[in-house]
Amino acid sequence: MKLPVFKMYIDGKWVNSHSEETFQKINPATEKLVGVFQKGNKEDVKKAVNAAERAFEKWSEIPAPKRGKILLKVAQLLEQNKENLAKELTEEMGKVLAEARGDIQEAIDMAEYIAGEGRRLFGRTTTSELKDKFAMTVRDPIGVVGCITPWNFPIAIPSWKIFPALVCGNTIVFKPSSDTPRCAVKFVEILEKAGIPKGVINLVTGGGNEVGMEIVRNKGIRMISFTGHRDTGKEILRQAGIKKVSLELGSKNVIIIMDDADLNLALEGVLWGAFGTAGQRCTAASRVIVAKDLKSKFEKMLLEKASKLKLGYGLNKGIDIGPLINKAALEKVHSYTEIGKKEGAKLLTGGKRSGTKGFFYLPTIFTDVSPYMRIFQEEIFGPTTAIFSCKNFDEAIEAANSVEYGLSFSIYTKNINNAFKAIKKLQSGIVYINAPTIGAEIHLPFGGIKNSGFSREGGWTAIEEFTNEKTVYIDFSGKLQKAQIDLD
Ligand code: NAD
Repeated sequence: MKLPVFKMYIDGKWVNSHSEETFQKINPATEKLVGVFQKGNKEDVKKAVNAAERAFEKWSEIPAPKRGKILLKVAQLLEQNKENLAKELTEEMGKVLAEARGDIQEAIDMAEYIAGEGRRLFGRTTTSELKDKFAMTVRDPIGVVGCITPWNFPIAIPSWKIFPALVCGNTIVFKPSSDTPRCAVKFVEILEKAGIPKGVINLVTGGGNEVGMEIVRNKGIRMISFTGHRDTGKEILRQAGIKKVSLELGSKNVIIIMDDADLNLALEGVLWGAFGTAGQRCTAASRVIVAKDLKSKFEKMLLEKASKLKLGYGLNKGIDIGPLINKAALEKVHSYTEIGKKEGAKLLTGGKRSGTKGFFYLPTIFTDVSPYMRIFQEEIFGPTTAIFSCKNFDEAIEAANSVEYGLSFSIYTKNINNAFKAIKKLQSGIVYINAPTIGAEIHLPFGGIKNSGFSREGGWTAIEEFTNEKTVYIDFSGKLQKAQIDLD
């Protein structure tokens, strides 16, 4: 069978790369080829940046509420194509179909929410220290924004960046992960169909070092919005020069289970938090801290439930866990199993590949883990979780905060004082009480601290990320007034 060939989208046209080179992509569940894609290069990025710069002049002049209306059309088209898109997403990355639908739904929600924000690009007014002088701020678009995205939520993550950036009046050069280029093409097709003018959104597929780095360094790009691995984020900061950079990076999230917790509820939370999307989420719970007295009971319950989870291709019925994204991911996840064993942690279950076709890895649980161990400290990005048992609340918080990351931390407790103390003490951008680390909603700020990055791309803070706030003084006194000098 002839493989479909997908193009890039630059200046309103579907085009081949200047490189005349392509790459292929396989479905990680079946190892079958899904398509041929353009291997973009620096020339393609430059063309896309030029197109986005030209389009910016007109697009930024359109009133924001009208730009928002186009996004309502995007939401409608995503809704109409939801089932097909979810299937295509699963064909490209193996993900469980229900989760693929959730990925699309997140983009629909974001389009609807942020369309309305077009009517709320609030600035502020304040008083001046001088008489007959008015002071306020207004929001300006930034310019051309380079959006560089990972593969794990191939529709939702681009929507968190591209939709707010568009409403704010920016134009886009979008580089998706080479593990999910087909989803990116489908996503941009929807934007085109909705009537986004030519040059406003440009798609360049290809490698991080070539396409990604050119976007990062290109002087025509005024902002980089990046989601991905911490080390890539570090390199981007080094190379970007003076431009706005927004970083959403990895993490080492935790679920704390105190001795007064509802254990069944906590167990459901750990199963979803640790093994949902095969642990390939920036918010995955790859650590569990459980009160000492509950340890053996909790482990028994967790083992029983984890052994019933069904691995397989996400298009098949009754599947709980899909594959890892590629062979390198399989090897990385397995290398952490070896590290955990060497460090002296006890492997309760899993720890190996499942089957020989597709990149499936068994749900893996380590116990008797100490906070200093690498399996407790480093992001694994697979279905592996590490259990540490704590003596008390203070020790749990200390262990939770002992990592270099801080994105999404959770605690299960019925003690209201400890719940509020945890909100204050946990060093993370997001805290959940009696809910797992997964479950962010699009209308609230999302982002981390420490090595998890510093941006807040969801919710109302998205508008702050994708605009420059300009300060305006209007002096209607008719005379020269000197701030800080005219004191009377
Ligand atoms: P990655 O950093 O390898 O790649 C992300 C993107 O950056 C891809 O498009 C890639 O091609 C590009 N890239 C790679 N090298 C580059 C370079 N030198 N210059 C510019 N671009 C470059 O990450 P990944 O494997 O695709 O995704 C997994 C990581 O993403 C995990 O660490 C995960 O925690 C993180 N993540 C974070 C969030 C969040 O919101 N905080 C969400 C999802 C995933």
